[in-house]
Amino acid sequence: MILSQFQTVGRDLSTRGLVSSHSGNLSIRLGDRIIITRRGIMLGCLQEHDLIETGISKNDRSTPLASMELAVHRAIYQQTPALAIVHAHPPHAVALSLTKTEIVPNGAEGLSTIGQVPVLGWHMEVRPGGLADIIAQALKEHRIVMAHGHGSFAIGQLLEEAYNCTTTLEASCQVICLLKSLQVDKAKK
Ligand SMILES: [Zn+2]
Repeated sequence: MILSQFQTVGRDLSTRGLVSSHSGNLSIRLGDRIIITRRGIMLGCLQEHDLIETGISKNDRSTPLASMELAVHRAIYQQTPALAIVHAHPPHAVALSLTKTEIVPNGAEGLSTIGQVPVLGWHMEVRPGGLADIIAQALKEHRIVMAHGHGSFAIGQLLEEAYNCTTTLEASCQVICLLKSLQVDKAKK
């Protein structure tokens, strides 16, 4: 049951090009435990042994096998009521994160689903597992945030909810980018 939820979201993220072959990570919270995807796996074809269970606060023998972003996932569970997290690299959202400090979805549907999306980590080194506290703090007020030039972190009660926030953001960013390219063309004429 848990595996099939991970597989569905992992496969869809991969098929939609929201992660590259070996990037992105997913987790859910079960009490004081976290089930998170394994370090370096392919999100598009998850198997049982690709799910790692470890502590939200405590390390154990499984901890070194967990995703490189474990520190961020742990901070989010420690500081918010989230029960699921999706981290992806949606290309249009990443492109906009390099030019904006906040992404405002176009259209009422996007806005009501995800609200305004802050871009975090400007002028800071963004590396896997970094910005953990900054991301967790922002997710107290938002359902999804962007790490500058890197990717999205979305939360929900279910993986599917966090996934929905991720695809909603990317769909909106794609339209914003298309609109920008049309305006550039118009300006040239
Ligand atoms: Zn990443």
